[in-house]
Amino acid sequence: MTPKLRPLLRGLPAYKPGRRPAPGQDLARLASNETPYPLLPGVIEAIAAAVADGNRYPDPAVEQLTTALAAKHGVGEDRVAVGCGSVMLVQQLVNIACDAGDEVVYAWRSFEAYPGLVKIAGATPVPVPLNGYEHDLDAMADAVSDRTRLILLCTPNNPTGPALREADVRAFLDRVSDDVLVVLDEAYAEFVSDPAAVDGRRLLAEQPNLAVLRTFSKAYGLAGLRVGYCLTGSPDVAAALRQVQVPFSVSLPAQAAALASLEAEDELLARVADVAREREPLRKALLDLGYDVPPSEGNFVWLPTGTDTMRVAGVFDEAGVLTRPFDGDGIRITVTTADDSARVIEAARTALAPTA
Ligand SMILES: *Cc1c(COP(=O)(O)O)cnc(C)c1O
Repeated sequence: MTPKLRPLLRGLPAYKPGRRPAPGQDLARLASNETPYPLLPGVIEAIAAAVADGNRYPDPAVEQLTTALAAKHGVGEDRVAVGCGSVMLVQQLVNIACDAGDEVVYAWRSFEAYPGLVKIAGATPVPVPLNGYEHDLDAMADAVSDRTRLILLCTPNNPTGPALREADVRAFLDRVSDDVLVVLDEAYAEFVSDPAAVDGRRLLAEQPNLAVLRTFSKAYGLAGLRVGYCLTGSPDVAAALRQVQVPFSVSLPAQAAALASLEAEDELLARVADVAREREPLRKALLDLGYDVPPSEGNFVWLPTGTDTMRVAGVFDEAGVLTRPFDGDGIRITVTTADDSARVIEAARTALAPTA
C-alpha cells in the first residue's frame, strides 16, 4: 500500500523551470531571467569563506544581513524578514495570512509560482485576468471578499513586463480594507526606469498592511544562492514571517553572498543598468518585425504569441535561444546582452518566415 497523500497534490500545477543547456552547448540562456554575468570575485571569496565554516549552522536570525538591509532601505530592523529566496517568502506570507479556504487574490497571468503556493497552503486562489498586459486593479479590488486575506501584486509583472504606477497602487490601497495583507512582489525593482512606477518602500510608512518583496536572484545575480527579503509596513508581519520560517533556511553561503553583494552594489547596479539599456532596443526590433511587445520594466520582454506559442518557441529552441514559453499565451525572453539580443531578433525573424 502506498501512503495516503493529500488529494490536492494531483491537481497541482507543476512548476516548470527554464530549460538548461547540456554541457558544452552554446545556448543563449534566456528562460529564467537570470543575469548573464558571473559572480564578482569578492562575492566568490565571501562564499568560499562561508563554506569553510560549513560545519556550523548559519545565524538563524540572519542578523548581519538584516541590519545591512534595514540601513540600505531606511526601515527598522523589525520590519525586515530575510528568506530562502523571495519565492519562499511568498509561501510564508500565505502561511501567516491564510487558514484553509481563505482567499488569495492575484493577477493572472503573473508569476507562475503563485497558484501552487496558495493551493499547497490550503488557501483558495482568486486569479483576476490581466487587462491586456497589466494588472486590472479595479477588478482585483472588486474580487476582494470577506474571505480575502492576501493580495499579491507583481510589479513589474512577470512575465508580461509592465510595472504598476504608484498613483494606481495608492488608489488601490485606499479601496482595500486595512486588515488585508497586500504584497508588492518587486523581484525586478532594480531594473525599473519609469519614474511613475511604484516603489513599495515609499508606501510602507503609511501602510501597515503592505509588504514588499525583493530578491538577490535577479539584479544581484545570486539566483543559485537563494536569498530574498520582505520589507513590511508592520513589525507584526515581519515577526510572523520569522515565526513560520523553517529554521536555518537561509544558508551560511547565501547570507555571506548577499552581504558581499551589498558591499559591491555599485558594480552590480552598473550591470543592471547595462541590461536595462538593452531592453528597449530589443523591444523596438521585435515591434519592427511585427510582434506586439508590451513595454517592460523588468529584465525580460513578452511575446504574446497566443496559439502559435509552442511553434515559435520551437523556432527559438532550434536557434539555440532558450526562452520560457507559456502554451497558448506567449513567450517570455530574458534581456541580457547585445549579442543575445541579436540572436533573439534573428530567431524571431525566422519564426515569421513562411514554412515550406
Ligand atoms: C524570479 C522571481 C521571484 C523569485 O525570486 P527568488 O528570490 O529567486 O525566489 C519572485 N517573484 C517574481 C515575480 C519573480 O519573477
